Amino acid sequence: MAEVLVVGGGMAGISIAYELAAHARVVLVEAEPTLAAHTTGRSAAIFAPSYGGPVVRALTVASAPRYRALQTELDTPPLLTERLVVWLGADEEGAAHLEKLPAEPITPAQARRLCPVLRQVVAAGRDDGASDIDVMALHDGYRRGLRERGGTIRTGHRVTAIARDGAGWRVTADEELTADVVVDAAGAWADEVATRARVPTVGLRPLRRTAAIASGTQPIDPGWPLVADAANRYYFRPEGERLLISPSDETPSEPCDAKPDELDVALAMERINEHTTLGLRRVHTAWAGLRSFVADRAPVVGEWPGHPGFAFFAGQGGYGIQMAPALAAYGAALVLGRSVPGDIDVAARDVLPGRSAN
Ligand SMILES: Cc1cc2nc3c(=O)[nH]c(=O)nc-3n(C[C@H](O)[C@H](O)[C@H](O)COP(=O)(O)OP(=O)(O)OC[C@H]3O[C@@H](n4cnc5c(N)ncnc54)[C@H](O)[C@@H]3O)c2cc1C
Repeated sequence: MAEVLVVGGGMAGISIAYELAAHARVVLVEAEPTLAAHTTGRSAAIFAPSYGGPVVRALTVASAPRYRALQTELDTPPLLTERLVVWLGADEEGAAHLEKLPAEPITPAQARRLCPVLRQVVAAGRDDGASDIDVMALHDGYRRGLRERGGTIRTGHRVTAIARDGAGWRVTADEELTADVVVDAAGAWADEVATRARVPTVGLRPLRRTAAIASGTQPIDPGWPLVADAANRYYFRPEGERLLISPSDETPSEPCDAKPDELDVALAMERINEHTTLGLRRVHTAWAGLRSFVADRAPVVGEWPGHPGFAFFAGQGGYGIQMAPALAAYGAALVLGRSVPGDIDVAARDVLPGRSAN
């Protein structure tokens, strides 16, 4: 049985570790004292099949039935709770972007019925396949499932060196570990980890995104859809009787513990107040996280040619939760050289590191 060492305990690392553990001995090492401390713990928790490019959308669509199966398999609370997504063209710029989105067109009056605080609607579309995700229930389910499959988790173990050792690897993470295969699921740090193993990087760009919980002069209906500006200038959705807001910012960053900039929070309020009658005034809490992308914004899965035994599982960008179930099953199959699940309509050439050389 192969010994696989997974670096990173966010959604990427924990999900692929669980899938790998069905066929391999798995050790997951996480630098922080707790799992999911970085981007995974900071998402907006949305599942939207209309969001992302073709590879991301295929992985998201293939994840929908897997979420249902995982709920039983991992004995979790409900993982998905339906929430409509409305893509909004509030002005000509938004309407132009809307044409490129795979959303079902609705009239401005229909959009306003769904979310009565919208001020101006030029065009709109709906995604009926969307849901809120219980991110921590999914992550915790994978964690328990990994342990049940005999996998080991070491938190507070930062990987600082990775050296070839015969056909396998010697990995320093406070203690010395050995593995046949290393899976690099280190989020924003994935290129740094590759460099430690003397494996070429994939050109990952961590981009900071801000979110906040706000309230205003209007009562918020918890049943409203998520409303996303089609031109990517903001989105909002109810969080109980408050509102989760984001300016959809993408500020380049070094890999780090990202912090929100108050100007980005103010920008989200300003843009949402311009297009709605919400009158947002008060910010209750704000946070930021790094969404890490390669140039084509599809995830990076597998080995570089000529660098066997070191597999990337990175570049999940802004979609790493919604596509996690299918991406983990696909990634584990690629890493172990098994046939990839037939229902996932993604070609390996579209996710392997080579295609993203830039
Ligand atoms: C504001 C915001 C909103 C988002 N909204 C959504 C959404 O609605 N839907 C969606 O699907 N996605 C969303 N995302 C994106 C999603 O959160 C990410 O794609 C996903 O969490 C990435 O998971 P990850 O495991 O790759 O990264 P991370 O969660 O960052 O995990 C990487 C881990 O690797 C560890 N690590 C790094 N270096 C080392 C080392 N040397 N040794 C050991 N461990 C190491 C880190 O400590 C970290 O825990 C959002 C992101 C943000 C910031």
